[in-house]
Amino acid sequence: MQTVKELLRQAQQKLAANNVAALESELLLAYALQVERTFLYANPESSPNRTQVDIFSRLLQRRLEGEPVAYLLGQQEFWSLALKVTPDTLIPRPETELLVETTLELLSANPCRVADLGTGSGAIALALASVRPNWELLATDISQPALQVAEENREQHQLKNVSFKHGSWLEALDGVLDAIISNPPYLAASDQHLQAGDCRFEPELALTPGVDSLVSFRIISASASKHLKASGWLLFEHGLDQADQLQSILKAAGFVNIQTRKDLAGHDRVTVGQNP
Ligand code: GLN
Repeated sequence: MQTVKELLRQAQQKLAANNVAALESELLLAYALQVERTFLYANPESSPNRTQVDIFSRLLQRRLEGEPVAYLLGQQEFWSLALKVTPDTLIPRPETELLVETTLELLSANPCRVADLGTGSGAIALALASVRPNWELLATDISQPALQVAEENREQHQLKNVSFKHGSWLEALDGVLDAIISNPPYLAASDQHLQAGDCRFEPELALTPGVDSLVSFRIISASASKHLKASGWLLFEHGLDQADQLQSILKAAGFVNIQTRKDLAGHDRVTVGQNP
């Protein structure tokens, strides 16, 4: 029988050959054994049973074939919330936390109504709801299967101040809002990025709007104003080379105080505008 230590060492060698971080072997083994990761450090000489070893080697094989670790585990951490993710939802990215931070910074801590368009797993809306229990979050998505995952995440974290609605972009919105936030699909259909890494397994709908990478920004910006209060904010996450064009789109739609923020990697990542 192989020990935890041996299983990890072999897995790490295979993953390293595929440029996958060693940590992932621990995540997968802990998942196969249904234990916390700390168990692996505390019990390096224990021997998992045959079924557990089989589950682990199947997970490892799928990871080596490129499947995102978040889909294998069915979970991704975002803003310290463990969120369920499935191939129906984009895997929340760390850089998207900048959108949450910027929203918290621009809006008052008083009660606000805020919409998250194309919510996917619900990450942005749920993160905001967890920090601002007095806000009302309205999150929409065109994908019913994604909304089902988002609803499970809401229940899991018992965030009563979020509601999910089905519809394209602003379609399902009602009432007046203090802010509209979106991390829409923004990769051009021809972007090489789509053929690499996790993107290969994620819903195309969440990654690319087609040939024109900016089209979701144009659609949302054109009618956001109608749903926003005076001085309300429109906030977008975008690709690292889209800030200038997005600023022009916001300007043409009548927004003021337009600003772009950089993510931790130093890339332009979030652009915002204020309704006059
Ligand atoms: N940031 C993601 C990526 O580059 C894309 C997310 C999106 O299109 N909204 O993989």
